[in-house]
Amino acid sequence: MQNLNSTGQDEVTGQGQIPRASSLAGDVYEAIFSQLMELKIAPGSRITVDSLVKEFGVSHTPIREALGRLEGEGLVLKTHLIGYSAAPQISRQRFDELYELRLLLEPDAAGKAAASMDESKLATLREAAGVMGRRDGADERARYSTFARQDAVFHDQIMVFAGNELIRQTLTFQHTHFHIFRLMFHARVTEEALDEHEAIIDAFAKAEPIAAQKAMRDHIEHSRDRLRPAFD
Ligand SMILES: [Zn+2]
Repeated sequence: MQNLNSTGQDEVTGQGQIPRASSLAGDVYEAIFSQLMELKIAPGSRITVDSLVKEFGVSHTPIREALGRLEGEGLVLKTHLIGYSAAPQISRQRFDELYELRLLLEPDAAGKAAASMDESKLATLREAAGVMGRRDGADERARYSTFARQDAVFHDQIMVFAGNELIRQTLTFQHTHFHIFRLMFHARVTEEALDEHEAIIDAFAKAEPIAAQKAMRDHIEHSRDRLRPAFD
C-alpha cells in the first residue's frame, strides 16, 4: 500500500516510488501508470475508483483525473454503466502493424534528424537516453515503468528533430511504447535496448544519416523480435 498523502519520505516498499516534487494528481497518475506497466493491474481487468481511493488514501478527484488521462493514452477504457478497466493487450496483428508503421517512419526520421544534428540536440537526446540507463536504487519494476515512458520520450524527440509534425503526431497517437512495454515484463527488454540507443546516439554524434537510419532500423527490428514471444 502506498499512501500518497503521507508527507514523510517513505522507505522503498517494493512498489513504484512517488516523485516528491510533483502535484498530487500527477503522483496518482504516475502510480497508476506504473501499476499498468508492471502488469500489477492486469490487462483487461476492472479498475474501481473506490479501491484506488483506499489504496492511495486520496479523494475521488485525483483518481478520476488520472484515469481520464490514462484513457486518453489508450491504457484505460471507460465503459458506460460499467466503469473503468485496463485496456486489453494489443493483438498480434496490431503489434505487427505497429512495427511495420514504425519501420516505415522512424529510420527515415532518424536519418533526417542526423542530417541536422547539433550539440544542443545531441545533449537533449543523450539526456533522454541516459535516464533509461540509470539504476539509482529503484527496483526492477519501477525501472521498467520509467523505461517505458522514457523510451517514448527518446523516440519522440528524434521525431521532433526530424521536423515533420504530422508524422510525429501519427506515431504519438498510437502510444506504441506504452502498449508494447505492457506485453511483457522482462529485464532483457530494457537492457538490450540501451545498447541499441547508444548506437543511434553514436550515429547522431557523427551526424551520419545512413548510419542513423540503420541503427534505428536495427533497434526497431530487435525490439519487435524481443517482444514477439509474448504472443506464443
Ligand atoms: Zn527505443
